[in-house]
Amino acid sequence: MTVMPPNDTVLTPQETARLRALDARHHMHPFSDQAALAAQGARIFTRAKGCYLWDSEGRRYLDGMAGLWCVQVGYGREELVEAAARTMRDLSYYNTFFQCSHPYATELAARIAEKTPKGLDYVMFAGSGSEANDTALKMARFYWTARGEPNRQWVVARVRAYHGVTLAAASVSGLEPMYAQFGNPVIPTLRMMAPYWYGPGIEGGMSPDEFGLTAARQIEKAIEAAGPGKIGTMIAEPIQGAGGLLIPPDTYWPEVQRLCAEHDILLIADEVVSGFGRTGHWFGSQLFDIQPDIMTMAKGLTSGYVPMSATVMGPKVADAVRNAGTEVAHGYTYSGHPVTAAVALANLEVIEREGLVERVRDDIGPYFQEQLRTLSGLPHVGEIRGVGLLGAIELVRETEPRRFFDPLGRMGLAVRNHATANGLIMRAVGDTLILSPPFVISHAEVDELIALARKAILAGADDYA
Ligand code: PLP
Repeated sequence: MTVMPPNDTVLTPQETARLRALDARHHMHPFSDQAALAAQGARIFTRAKGCYLWDSEGRRYLDGMAGLWCVQVGYGREELVEAAARTMRDLSYYNTFFQCSHPYATELAARIAEKTPKGLDYVMFAGSGSEANDTALKMARFYWTARGEPNRQWVVARVRAYHGVTLAAASVSGLEPMYAQFGNPVIPTLRMMAPYWYGPGIEGGMSPDEFGLTAARQIEKAIEAAGPGKIGTMIAEPIQGAGGLLIPPDTYWPEVQRLCAEHDILLIADEVVSGFGRTGHWFGSQLFDIQPDIMTMAKGLTSGYVPMSATVMGPKVADAVRNAGTEVAHGYTYSGHPVTAAVALANLEVIEREGLVERVRDDIGPYFQEQLRTLSGLPHVGEIRGVGLLGAIELVRETEPRRFFDPLGRMGLAVRNHATANGLIMRAVGDTLILSPPFVISHAEVDELIALARKAILAGADDYA
């Protein structure tokens, strides 16, 4: 689908320059080297439709990342726009404190509870994935305190995890600058290895299944290191996204689940990326048959149109909250905001009406995976992995034996920059290129995406040669 932007979204060169100057002066960007960004000037997007974005200079980009893994239903869907406009007119705001509710939050909580694994049916809303994880970590502490074991505040997390940027969510994340730049983590955390079979340092030796068990059994090392009665909770993404799209070997999740049960550890599944159909299942937990105690979700809940997240509790934690016998002192001004809840409901309706989860599972997902694997013969392409509409291309210096680039990351960045220059947005995590397109991507658009990725990889390889 090619949709041309109306002319007024192409700004004059003077206007683009003016916005870039204001941006450099006043706007701190997330996860950016601000000086480098100011020197280069921000890319200013003015319009989006379907799977495409346009910048202020009229350039078109195929969005291979669905924004930040979130625009499941594609850009510019009237149903979501209508839901927002209607609700802004009818109930622009009211809160869910003080025994109040409204149809939007209530209906949405019930709809989410229908989709989650059995028993996870008690929902608290927030505005971002970070806040959802903050809520989950607080609810886990609340649970342990209610159980009379307040010392079980330690958390097992994983290297390369991305759980968000609030002090608590960053504390349990495993990408070092996220916690190291901001003083001591506020949550006592033990990080175990990521289930990254292809990763640097793991090469050779173990089969994926053996490695999956080894990685899972790190929980026991963490328990030993923390000492008795300390660890109460584990937090993990079913598939690690921002850490490099790490899909665990088949043996991993059953063993993690078994060990959590054996040691009475609450499991928080962070479904912020893997939720709402991205893997071809409503949640990544269903793909791997995980039964978490708490699930967190954001992004796909509203397809990114408005900020909203949810923390969904299973019976252990929900009962502790329901039976607290006192006010549970947690919640946000925007918990269950009527406008965001209405947009989420409209988004879920589109996903269901158009059968988008099934489309990812049975049609466009398998096609995307098949086409992605046609890149495997290209220079420097090591592993290609993915599921549903998640894909990763891992670039290495040599494939046999596996040798990574030194320094890591320069090649990934070069290929990503070639892709952007050619009109494809993808992400680079080190030397891993990541794709996560909208669910409405057509077969022809997948072909275009793969052709652009191919061109970018070849250009990167030429630079390197
Ligand atoms: N959890 C995961 C798995 C994420 O990928 C992200 C963001 O990318 C977050 C949590 C944090 O979400 P937010 O940026 O909405 O706070």
